[in-house]
Amino acid sequence: MDCARLPLLESVFCAVSLGAIVLDHQRRVVLWNSWMVRHAGLEQDKVIGRDFFAVCPDLRGGRVDAAIQHALYNNFPSLLSQTLNKAPFGLYLNAAAAARDDRIQQAVEVTPIAVDGAPRHCLIQISDVSIAVARERLLREQAMVLRSQTFADGLTGIANRRHFDVAMEKEHRRAKRGGMPLSLLMIDIDHFKAYNDHYGHQKGDQCLIQVAGALAAMLKRPGDLTARYGGEEFAMILPETDIEQARLMAETIRDRVQALRIPHERTTDDARQVTVSIGIATQRGGTPVDIAALIGAADKALYQAKRSGRNLVAALQP
Ligand code: GH3
Ligand code: MG
Ligand code: MG
Repeated sequence: MDCARLPLLESVFCAVSLGAIVLDHQRRVVLWNSWMVRHAGLEQDKVIGRDFFAVCPDLRGGRVDAAIQHALYNNFPSLLSQTLNKAPFGLYLNAAAAARDDRIQQAVEVTPIAVDGAPRHCLIQISDVSIAVARERLLREQAMVLRSQTFADGLTGIANRRHFDVAMEKEHRRAKRGGMPLSLLMIDIDHFKAYNDHYGHQKGDQCLIQVAGALAAMLKRPGDLTARYGGEEFAMILPETDIEQARLMAETIRDRVQALRIPHERTTDDARQVTVSIGIATQRGGTPVDIAALIGAADKALYQAKRSGRNLVAALQP
C-alpha cells in the first residue's frame, strides 16, 4: 500500500454515511468512523484500542457477537437483517431520540478482513434502514386496512358476502376433514320492503344496522361468523353445531331481534315489531354435501318459514 494514500483512505472511511467499525483478532476496536461517533455518542479516543464488548456490552452473547466470531475465526461473512434483529446497536439520530431510546433502524453486515502479516480482522458495517422500515410498516398497515375493508360490509360493519364465501369454504373443508357437523343459518327480515316504504330508506338502513349488531353480538366461538349475505338477508356459519344446537341458536336469534323492539306498523306480526324468519341447513358429520347444496337447503328452509307465517324457524338436513 502506498503510504500517501492511507490518510485519504481514513478520510473516506470517516466520510461514508454508514457506521463502520474494524476489530482486530482479539476483538479490540481498531477503527471507529465519524458516523459512529455522531450516532453512538462515543468519541474515537474512548473506543480505539478497547475491547469491543466493553464498548458495547449489550451485544455480548447476541447475534452480532456470533457474527463477529464467525468472521474472525471461521472467515464467514454475515448479514443481520432488520426484521430479525431489532436494532442491536444503541444508535440514535439525535439526543431527543436517545432520550426516548428510539433507535435508528439498522442492517448490520460483518465481513472478515485479511491483513498482511497479522491475524484476520473484521469490518462491521451498519446501515440506517429507518426509511425502508417505516415505509414497510406503512404499507403493512395500509394492507391491513384494505383487507379489513374488503371483507367488511360498508353499511353494517359485519362480514360481507366475500368474507362469507371465504369462511364457508374454510369451515366446509374443516368439517369434512374432521367429520364434524356444520350448520348454516339464513336470516331474513320480515316484510322489509313494507318497512322501507313506510319509514323510508334511511330508517331501513338503521334497522339493518341494529339487526346486524344483535346478530354479531351473539357469536361466541372463534369459528362462528355472521355476514350480510345480501340486502336484508344475513347468514350465520356455525361449525361443529348439529341441527338441535342450530335450532336453539336460531330461536335465540328470533327472540333477540324481537327484543330490539323496532316498531313496524306494516308487518303481519301482532306486536307490530320487526321480526326475522330463519332457515337452517345442517350437514351431518359423516355425510358432507357440497356448499351449494347446503346454501340451497338453508334457502329452502327459509322459504318454508316465510310460507308458514314468518317470525319462525325451519330446518332441513340435506
Ligand atoms: P319477506 O317477509 O318475504 O322477506 O318480504 P320482504 O319485503 O322483506 O322481502 P323483499 O325481498 O320483497 O324485500 C326486501 C327489501 O329490502 C327490498 C329492499 O327495498 C330492501 N333492502 C335491500 N337492501 C337494502 C338496504 O341496504 N337498505 C335498505 N334500507 N333497504 C334495503
Ligand atoms: Mg325479507
Ligand atoms: Mg330477502
